Amino acid sequence: MQALWGEAVRSVEQRVKPTQRDQWLRPIAYLGFDGSCIRLRAPNRYHKEWFEDHYLPAILSDLQGRTKTALSVTFEVAQEETSKVASYEASEKMTTCAPSAPTVWPSGLDSRYDFDSFVVGNTNRFAYAAARMVAEAPASKYSPLFIYGGVGLGKTHLLHAVGQEIHRQHPEWNITVVTCEKFVSSFISSMLNQRRQSGQTSSVTLMEEFRSRYREAPDVLLVDDIQFLSGKDSSQDEFFHTFNALHHSHKQIVLTCDKVPAELPGVEERLRSRFTWGLIAEIGHPDLETRMAILKRKAEVDNIDLPDDVALTVASRFRSNVRELEGALLHLSARASVHGCTITKEVAEESLKSIASSEPGGLTIEAIQREVASYFEVKLHDLKGPKRHQAVAYPRLIAMYLSRQLTRMSYPEIGSRFGGKDHSTVISAVRKIEKKSAEDSSLRSVLSTLTTRLRQR
Ligand code: ADP
Ligand code: MG
Repeated sequence: MQALWGEAVRSVEQRVKPTQRDQWLRPIAYLGFDGSCIRLRAPNRYHKEWFEDHYLPAILSDLQGRTKTALSVTFEVAQEETSKVASYEASEKMTTCAPSAPTVWPSGLDSRYDFDSFVVGNTNRFAYAAARMVAEAPASKYSPLFIYGGVGLGKTHLLHAVGQEIHRQHPEWNITVVTCEKFVSSFISSMLNQRRQSGQTSSVTLMEEFRSRYREAPDVLLVDDIQFLSGKDSSQDEFFHTFNALHHSHKQIVLTCDKVPAELPGVEERLRSRFTWGLIAEIGHPDLETRMAILKRKAEVDNIDLPDDVALTVASRFRSNVRELEGALLHLSARASVHGCTITKEVAEESLKSIASSEPGGLTIEAIQREVASYFEVKLHDLKGPKRHQAVAYPRLIAMYLSRQLTRMSYPEIGSRFGGKDHSTVISAVRKIEKKSAEDSSLRSVLSTLTTRLRQR
């Protein structure tokens, strides 16, 4: 049902302005479905009423066209003392749903993203364990927890899961969750409006309000996509002080990012080094088994019948991004429901052609190692082994660098293919080659020759 609800919302979204979509549709969270009643959450009561009057009828009419069943909707309202439940009757039949627990849900926290719905596999096990540890004992010694990895691999999911778990254990705590983009834009707008406001007499200025929101109020601060600070000097400075204030008062900070701190361009050293004070955890690309497990879990939640061979077909095709994996499942189930057929391997193969992803051609680390070894005329096992002399150490750095550039492997994964080296060795190899190639044109030409050869394979 979640998938169908998502489709109905998207079809209505296409008919409204992007500003209306962002303001009124996106903040409505889907919480669940109990057979005839859809549960939603609105950020406040006013929002709920506006949504009910202006958008819900169109969404329900679209949805009922798809499901051919009578549906009703109940709301939870996030920012009220007690969650009030209001029903919207979408058919003759009215269904009542039980109201939810009477605690104030931290605004911005997505209830879909919890630990239970996160599938654990080899490449996210450590990040998952670190997040759980922090959620169970916040602000002990692992602050900040810094989760990094590529797009669509579950960073936001884990960030919200930490927030939810802490909220469950400490409902009275202030859990502030914000995207870095939002932090930056509200900082800038507080600063701009502050100037305008300065002529007037006001007891609390906008800047004071902003600072108290992020430096004083939170017991836990969760910031998503911290790489957004790159190149934004004044916002970095503000975040530096936010970080210090919270750290000083032993509050828990969790950050997500698309890179390791050391690789963050345009972020000052004093901030990058603070990001390493606690615990750093990488999420890598999920292996086949994990991708299958994720698909099965999502299918179960959405009540989609997904045979094993179909799961295998989908999981083999979408390798590097869980969001794309989910999108493919949604696509298949929508197609199956429109055509009234079950999803078979043949249907899956045929219909996935239209959303074929742009996965790279499956270049392996082994292939890179062979190419580099033959170019430098060193033995393959020396390249992977522990020898330190220059004749093999230098090609090894290059092979590690190319592995990072040309595959989607994580640092630990690359390290393990080079005779079990630590991820920090790979990071340092990548940085060395980056630095050297900026100064040395002959190295640049070696890299370009090797890259061309590998891409032509
Ligand atoms: P990121 O923030 O890393 O770009 P997200 O956290 O937004 O990625 O994840 C993208 C989608 O994939 C979300 O819907 C999320 O629930 C799902 N997802 C990612 N990893 C997992 C996992 N291990 N188990 C279940 N769902 C996952
Ligand atoms: Mg994210």
